[in-house]
Amino acid sequence: MNNDIERILYSQSDLDGRMDEMAADLNVKYRNEEPIIIPVLNGAMIFASDMIKRLDFKLIIDPIKASSYVGSQSTGKVKITQDIKSDVKGRPVIFMEDIIDTGRTLQALSEVMKDRGAKSVEVVAMLDKPDTRVVDFHADYYGFKAPDGFLVGYGLDYNGLYRNLPYVGILKHEVYAN
Ligand code: 5GP
Ligand code: MG
Ligand code: MG
Repeated sequence: MNNDIERILYSQSDLDGRMDEMAADLNVKYRNEEPIIIPVLNGAMIFASDMIKRLDFKLIIDPIKASSYVGSQSTGKVKITQDIKSDVKGRPVIFMEDIIDTGRTLQALSEVMKDRGAKSVEVVAMLDKPDTRVVDFHADYYGFKAPDGFLVGYGLDYNGLYRNLPYVGILKHEVYAN
């Protein structure tokens, strides 16, 4: 499996360091709140579980699944395929996501939670790819800026594989070609 990786971008210790920093900020900000943490499955499962262990305020974990359908170059529709169970009305919501690419998924999901009456909505992303953004969306917290290119590991997959790599790496081109 490691042979399929061109280069490691962020190691476990890189990620640990940034997760500690982001958690420190969240622990101050949400000290007196009881937010609903919404991991965006499946990609965010590894990052979210590592992040959540670092949080020391009361919280609820309620994952969501979404898929985006890109019909043409300029239109991408986001569909919730497995919804949360909680009522977000009047409560702070924190999404946890693996990577923000076009920005469509989290922009759409954030709007849904605002429409449902969430008190506030913030997004914590492991990675941010600013160069490929197509909508005006910014994560409130992100671990690292990522270059354009196909990344795998730490929850990020290619055809369902590589999520279990304990680092984020660039997949070799020959792996796509096969
Ligand atoms: P977007 O921001 O484009 O709506 O959606 C982001 C989603 O696209 C991520 O949650 C992730 O599933 C997928 N994605 C974007 N860039 C990459 C990448 O480099 N590698 C992998 N494995 N998935 C990606
Ligand atoms: Mg995702
Ligand atoms: Mg994927």
